[in-house]
Amino acid sequence: MFPEVDRVLVSEAQIRERVGELASEIARDLRAELDAQGQTLQDEDQIVFIPIMTGAMIFVADLVRQMPVKLSLDLVTVSSYPGETVTSKGAHLASDLPENLAGKHVVVLDDILDSGRTLALIKRVVSERKPASLRIAVLLDKKTNRAEAVEADYVGFEIPDEFVVGYGLDYNGYYRNHPEIAVLRPDAIPARDG
Ligand code: 5GP
Ligand code: MG
Repeated sequence: MFPEVDRVLVSEAQIRERVGELASEIARDLRAELDAQGQTLQDEDQIVFIPIMTGAMIFVADLVRQMPVKLSLDLVTVSSYPGETVTSKGAHLASDLPENLAGKHVVVLDDILDSGRTLALIKRVVSERKPASLRIAVLLDKKTNRAEAVEADYVGFEIPDEFVVGYGLDYNGYYRNHPEIAVLRPDAIPARDG
């Protein structure tokens, strides 16, 4: 789709199958949790999904459409890659978190877990709002790169420490619409300093 793409790490078919599995696992676990409280997946005001923008937008769109669960979506924006660099400079919240998370079952979604700074930050601020439960789901996990001790409850694919684009992940704002998880040609990432 883009001539700058060098290699595909995860194909469209693999993503589709795995996102379906994740949807089933998350729904199953939420069902068990709500069961214990005498509630169901269709009861109102229980479940809040918080996708981290902008990278999680395609993941969350595909995931929630495979979940017959009454949920609300509340976006949060975290900035971690300022400018053109691909090396993490730490995370900061660029939008407010939803206020009313107390007693809710919260599922935070991100495209990729890398240094862990983004999800450690979100985990900390969401926990302060006293949710009934907090789960983290990521499409991709670069396990070897952690700077903060945070793990996801649901992982789509573990990938090596390479800079990837596609399915929501960008380089310099582009390639989010590439349908596969892919690595760009080295000469397409001139600012790469990582
Ligand atoms: P962390 O805070 O865990 O280092 O990184 C999480 C965020 O960094 C992700 O939400 C994503 O936006 C960005 N990120 C980490 N690795 C990659 C990558 O390989 N490609 C792209 N496009 N973004 C990444
Ligand atoms: Mg992100």
